[in-house]
Amino acid sequence: MTAMSAEELAALFKSWGEPAFRATQLRDFVFRQGVASYEQVTNLSKELRQRLSREAPLYELAPVETSAGDEATKWLWRAGDGALIESVQIRAPERVTSCLSSQVGCAMGCAFCATGSSGFERNLQAHEIVEQYLQMWGRSTTRSSHVVFMGMGEPLLNYDAVLAAVRTLNSPPPQGAGIAARRITLSTIGIVPGILRLATEKLQVELAVSLHAPDEETRGQLIPAAKRYPIRDIMAAVEEFSRRARRLVTYEYVLLAGVNDSPEQAGELIGLLQTHPCKANLIPFNPVAGCAYQRPALKDQERFKAILEKAHIPTTIRYSKGGSIDAACGQLRRRVAGTT
Ligand code: SAH
Ligand code: SF4
Repeated sequence: MTAMSAEELAALFKSWGEPAFRATQLRDFVFRQGVASYEQVTNLSKELRQRLSREAPLYELAPVETSAGDEATKWLWRAGDGALIESVQIRAPERVTSCLSSQVGCAMGCAFCATGSSGFERNLQAHEIVEQYLQMWGRSTTRSSHVVFMGMGEPLLNYDAVLAAVRTLNSPPPQGAGIAARRITLSTIGIVPGILRLATEKLQVELAVSLHAPDEETRGQLIPAAKRYPIRDIMAAVEEFSRRARRLVTYEYVLLAGVNDSPEQAGELIGLLQTHPCKANLIPFNPVAGCAYQRPALKDQERFKAILEKAHIPTTIRYSKGGSIDAACGQLRRRVAGTT
């Protein structure tokens, strides 16, 4: 059902002799309450719910596996064509965040990322993205206040479907889930045309840019596919975005011991970030099977942070909440698909 537009759903109801407002009632219920199945849509008759289950299933993604920790629950889904995708719900005292996938696999091939080493299969469709949010809500009975595109895939390489999903998540019921755009973050490895296009949208979404190194050589080692977009082009695109969208951009930086965590590299990073209002988010490396990188010692993480802060760049260190549940992007899928 999530794959159908409001018009298609109304037409289906009409063909069954049901009034069009019932289709609106159904969409309103699904986007306002968060349900796991039609059984919970209590404002429709039992017969209608049974017919819907048979002829227009509520969701396409089937849950394959769930792993729950104290602060996060991760789901692995199987799409209609057998593709495996992951989503995580992260619970903090002040917010609940749905971390969504935008592609099956990823073509960027980042050396530290479980998704990157699995290769690219296909783009997700808009409804497969929206469903991740709705199903986690329905199955956990906890509504996420925030959405981040930090699961599998590069959202700006699946631009149209991701933007369509963002619009649905953002629109008020019965069109969508009514999440404020400022609570939706797109995380990109630095796809310059995508960042420039996003700057022209009338949408107040947050942008996070995965920089990971201040120089081309180190960055090229970590992100082979990103050589197409030199750092200075990325910075120019981000400055354009933050000027036009008037948003404060966040830079993500995975800290890898002995690779990108030296005081000199922190100094170089300051040179790049000082030119425009932004924040830095340091992510200590989350170990990936078969990947030789190491997480820096705590004191080295703190040293890096202190150098940025001294230059008045607001900096946080973010620990992956789901370390114990394979929550780093692509890990659960790799284990279940047997490709580790
Ligand atoms: N493709 C997008 C969004 C998905 S990845 C991007 O790269 O920005 C979301 C974030 O998780 C990125 O900042 C990425 O660098 C980070 N990440 C991936 N693998 C990681 C790992 N093993 N440890 C820590 N962070 C990781
Ligand atoms: Fe793709 Fe992001 Fe993983 Fe790089 S870090 S391989 S861009 S999902």
